[in-house]
Parts: sequence; C-alpha cells; structure tokens
Amino acid sequence: MPVLFLGHGSPMNVILDNDYRRSWQALGKDLLARYPKPQLIVCVSAHWLTKGWFLTAMEKPKTIHDFGGFPQELFDQQYPAPGASEAARDIASQIGAELDHTEWGLDHGTWGVLKPMFPDADIPTLQLSLDWHAHPTKHFEMGQKLRALRDHGVLIVGSGNVVHNLRVMGQGEPFDWNAQFDEFVKQHIEAGSLAELANFQDLGAVAKLAHPSYDHYLPILHAAGAADEHDSFRFFNETYDMRSLAMRSVIWEAKPA
Ligand code: ZN
Repeated sequence: MPVLFLGHGSPMNVILDNDYRRSWQALGKDLLARYPKPQLIVCVSAHWLTKGWFLTAMEKPKTIHDFGGFPQELFDQQYPAPGASEAARDIASQIGAELDHTEWGLDHGTWGVLKPMFPDADIPTLQLSLDWHAHPTKHFEMGQKLRALRDHGVLIVGSGNVVHNLRVMGQGEPFDWNAQFDEFVKQHIEAGSLAELANFQDLGAVAKLAHPSYDHYLPILHAAGAADEHDSFRFFNETYDMRSLAMRSVIWEAKPA
C-alpha cells in the first residue's frame, strides 16, 4: 500500500466543492483503481494529542466534530467507518501503543479527508494519537514501526499541514516563512532525507512561525517514517491557504518491480 500525507486545512474543505475536496475524491478513486481496496486504514491526525500513544479499538468509532463556529451542515457530517478491535490489539502491541476503547473515535483530521476519498465508509479505520510528550524523532520512529503494515493491506495516512499558523491568517500572498518552511519539507522529501524532517526546529524563528504549536506538523513525520527509501513520491495540493497554511500533500508508493 502507498503512504499518504494529506494537508487538511479548514474543516470546511469536507463540504465545499473546492480543489482540495476534489483532489481527495480523485485520490480515493485512483487508489481503488490501482490497488486492492485497503483492508484497514490507520490514520494519524493532528487533532488527537495524548500522553503516550493510543490507538482506537472500538467497533464503531464515533465521528467527532472537534471544531466550533462552523455551519450546521458540518456538524451533521457522519463517517461511520467500522473499527477493527482485533487488528487494533495486534498493531498496538507491535508499535507500543495503548488501546482506547471509549475516549476518542475519528476526529475531523481523519474523517475530513477520508470521507471524500472513501465515501462509502466501508473500510475499517483506526486512529493513532500523537504522544505530545514525545520528541519529533520519536514520531518519525513511530512511522517506521507502522511501515511493515503496508505489506498487509494497510493504508497509512498522516493528516495535518506542512505549515499551520492560525494566528495570522489573512488574504494574499503566503508569508515568506510559510514558503521557506514548505521549501524545507519539499527539499528533504525530494532528497529522500526523510529523517531530517524531524529536525524542523533547526529552522528557528521560521519553524516557530510555521508552527506556533507543532501538532499539525507531526503527522507528516509518521507518514515519512512509514515511507520506504526506495518509494517514489508525488506532491499534490502544492498551494497555500490564507497566507499561513501550506496544503502540500504527498503520496509515497513502491516503484513497480
Ligand atoms: Zn487541523
């Protein structure tokens, strides 16, 4: 299976007929045309921060509307993809995560992108939390632990944003630091130096501006960790939103033998 990192941006993207939603719809169709249907999706969303790592293990994960100030239509959205308790138990023991039976479910980082991709909601889906106390390199290493699942029909998805600063959103050209940070990510992916992505704080002030808190950055470390050095990659949604978000998204996939 390929590995995806998806910039999700505003929750509104799940109900607006815009380029982002259309790209996710096309991506889902393309994957189902070129690969067997995933047996399982493991999604790492920017929106579930925990102490330690947790993996959802309920049979019917609830759709979580973890946002405010949006139209009712967004709160009416449901994504009833089943869970997979048994697989969750196996994977949790492989990667060193605890099982979550009641607390979480699928938050909008997960269903906001999966609903356009797989609208039938028939692929069992697990969400993995972000250990907020773990160093960024640990997040990359968690991705490496997930990598082997790709050989077993598991689609790994990281959902966040390459640049995410909600404090200074506005109209117009992207801020310089937005483009600079995005370029840092782009270059390391192009060079195949994926582990270097965990050293983003070396960018100092630029990193601080790109990610005042870096919850939206961590999912790309999981996806990059799950990528193989021999994978090919393709960028899409290489655009900036509201001056201070970068929507850059990546698919890594094994080259044909
Ligand atoms: Zn978000």
